[in-house]
Amino acid sequence: MAHRRLQPGKLVVASHNKGKIREINELLAPFGFDVVSAGELDLPEPDETGLTFEENAALKADASASASGLPALADDSGFCVEALDNDPGIYSARWAGPDKDFAMAMRTIEEKLASIGANTPAQRRGSFVAVLCLAWPDGHKEYFRGEVEGQVVWPPRGTQGFGYDPIFQPDGHERTFGEMSSEEKHGWSRDTEALSHRARAFQLFASGCLEG
Ligand code: IMP
Repeated sequence: MAHRRLQPGKLVVASHNKGKIREINELLAPFGFDVVSAGELDLPEPDETGLTFEENAALKADASASASGLPALADDSGFCVEALDNDPGIYSARWAGPDKDFAMAMRTIEEKLASIGANTPAQRRGSFVAVLCLAWPDGHKEYFRGEVEGQVVWPPRGTQGFGYDPIFQPDGHERTFGEMSSEEKHGWSRDTEALSHRARAFQLFASGCLEG
């Protein structure tokens, strides 16, 4: 089915997460939108009560679009560890607690993997998932999902990026996301597949809603 096109103009990034807002702004930069974040507009941050990435992305995008009267783009994303039944998944932010302690969240993953004896690369598969939802004030929504697979490594490596980046090494690469510059992590190019989950979702969003 054809996607609804997004016309150039003001666009709300429906997030209060600084790492995500930075990456979304980088990815949107070539398209010439007048981008403003939900935090800058003091828009409400809805509770993420959904049970899927899609439901939570829609809750955030809808809340910003209806409160601002502008189109709003939300990202719901997370880190899924195969041997842990894809946890933390939609609970990725919550595993870091109110202090957003990702060193602790990464340690929790490692302790759970150790407790089930997951030592081999095959037992330590993980992926990042990002679902973008673009919502208009009239309630119309478009969804785009990006995923990237790789290994859960220990100890954490690198200080770039955010969240779980230091323990994720994407397939085909020798460095973790935490050791990559954001350009490298996105791997964004119009001609080849992007690298990060968020950039992959963005490529679909760009070709569905932004280009020609
Ligand atoms: P959300 O705001 O509920 O979508 O939270 C997503 C959480 O997943 C973030 O707080 C991070 O912990 C994690 N996450 C999502 N994308 C990334 C990424 O690109 N790198 C590292 N962690 C990520």
